[in-house]
Amino acid sequence: AKRSSSVNVMLYDCSMDLDVQLQATLEQLLRQAIENDELTVYFQPQFDPHTGKIYGVESLARWHSPVLGVVSPAKFIPVAEDSGLIARLGEVVTRKSVREHVRWATMYPDQVLKLSINVSPGQLMRPNFAEDYIAIVLEEGGDPSNIILEITETAAITDLAYCERVLNKFIKVGFEIALDDFGTGYSSLSLLKQLPLKYVKIDRSFIMDIDTESSSSEIVRSIVMMCHSFGYCTLAEGVETHKQTELVKALGCNLIQGYVYSRPLPAAQLDDFLAQAYRE
Ligand code: C2E
Ligand code: CA
Ligand code: CA
Ligand code: CA
Repeated sequence: AKRSSSVNVMLYDCSMDLDVQLQATLEQLLRQAIENDELTVYFQPQFDPHTGKIYGVESLARWHSPVLGVVSPAKFIPVAEDSGLIARLGEVVTRKSVREHVRWATMYPDQVLKLSINVSPGQLMRPNFAEDYIAIVLEEGGDPSNIILEITETAAITDLAYCERVLNKFIKVGFEIALDDFGTGYSSLSLLKQLPLKYVKIDRSFIMDIDTESSSSEIVRSIVMMCHSFGYCTLAEGVETHKQTELVKALGCNLIQGYVYSRPLPAAQLDDFLAQAYRE
């Protein structure tokens, strides 16, 4: 037993080194990527199944690395958060997203298209975050009243009162706030109660098997009811099939987002998507 445990310790140590090295390499590459403008933004449409109209788009960061190929945000966002690069990354993503959003608003002045942008808790808790962020949006000519900040429930939101104050600075100038990945994180209910939300995004893990597991549909039904009692708008994430669309609609969900409606698209392809959506 003794032997195997020392082998385990060795293996553990090696993999730690590897992880640390990998992390350092990724961080270095990401730092260069931001400088070399390798980051782009894709946009995933959000849909109102009750009116049949497009409601908005969520901007999702993409990294096309010449060395690594396409890197998923699930990989590089955590690296950005741990290394402090998230502030720069967030600024780049925000500027690019807002620029496209302004372009669409100019192309379709009679339509309202909301833009959702992901904000990491690590960004949110930085000093002066709201002031700096609002300045960036205004500098790009963005319209705060059509921009939604998506914040994720995580352990990083330790000081709810502080978080609430930061979010209220955004609300004061017109932004709306969405709680992302609802139901999977920490202290969901305290966030729901205390934060100045407009939208709650119900995590994909509940939507995934909504048509096969009655427990999932019961959970979604309860979340929707609770959110509506608070006056929040609900959005189902990761809707992939028509059957799921019909179910979440029947459960009272206000909005849907997922492959059934559209995958995340580069801005040029979203142009075509909008042309089609607004023609109908
Ligand atoms: P998220 O905010 O929950 O974004 C939704 C994720 O689900 C996206 O993954 C999207 O491509 C994917 N998705 C959408 N519809 C479906 C569906 O029907 N089925 C399935 N299986 N997946 C679907 P993506 O783009 O890989 O992003 C992963 C996560 O990375 C995001 O999760 C978000 O937490 C983070 N992220 C992405 N861009 C940014 C960013 O600019 N800033 C920050 N802070 N985080 C970002
Ligand atoms: Ca999101
Ligand atoms: Ca989400
Ligand atoms: Ca997620």
